[in-house]
Amino acid sequence: MQTAHKHLLSATYDWAGLIRAYTTGRGDASGLARPGHRLDMTRIEANKGVWYETMKEGFERGDTSRLKREILERTREKMKPMYSVDHSTATIALADYVRYFRDAERFMGYCKACGRYDACWSCPPFEFDTEDYISPFETAHIIGTKVVFDEDTIERNRGLDKCKKTVVAMMEDVRRGLDGKLLELEKRYPASRAFFAGTCHVCPRGGCARIEKKPCIAPEKTRPSLESFGFDIGKTSSELLRIELKWTRDGVLPEYLTLVSGFFTREAIPEFPLFWR
Ligand code: SF4
Repeated sequence: MQTAHKHLLSATYDWAGLIRAYTTGRGDASGLARPGHRLDMTRIEANKGVWYETMKEGFERGDTSRLKREILERTREKMKPMYSVDHSTATIALADYVRYFRDAERFMGYCKACGRYDACWSCPPFEFDTEDYISPFETAHIIGTKVVFDEDTIERNRGLDKCKKTVVAMMEDVRRGLDGKLLELEKRYPASRAFFAGTCHVCPRGGCARIEKKPCIAPEKTRPSLESFGFDIGKTSSELLRIELKWTRDGVLPEYLTLVSGFFTREAIPEFPLFWR
């Protein structure tokens, strides 16, 4: 059993490592862990049926020595990439972005109808003045992240529950990379401020400290979104990024979903698009 367990986990980590970086957080002490890497739970979740099937067959045959090889072969054959990520960028003077793309009153109405209103520190109402927050900046860099699903993934995730789980897992995965990169850019350009593509994902869902009227546990890791400041994401996407927004419909994933982030700076950064290639 122990040998089978080791074979199975080695294969799992080998496979995950081939596709995407992962970490188990156990450091060098574990032979199966590779620090600095990150396990893509979206792929694991979406493909777990194949794993269970392979495990069952392996155990039933009582031939665990073949399990590792078989898992690798079968998953390589059966598992295609779940989604690909494509970034595009646009740059606009902040004064114009505010003039043509912001309608604070209208979007505050949408925020008030959301369960995160007054229940998450990265969402309205803010304890600071949003005008003061953006006033030091002159330029808005916009990042559109198109997450494209392959046909197999769309088919395998039909149904409200599966579809929702896939979107949530994808969002958390893509946001982890996006947000980290934006925070790195903030360090590189000190007179700057990032805007994340949606609400805060740092604490577990529904676990923001604001619900208990406590201060944010990690203000250095969270940023507001453009929409929470009243910017029109649909218009930003179609007119600045030339991407038509698509949504899940009746439990079916669309061909792609789009995440829109922002990076406000004092001066335009000509090399900004290069960071997203
Ligand atoms: S880090 Fe946690 S406490 Fe802070 S805004 Fe995000 S969810 Fe809330």
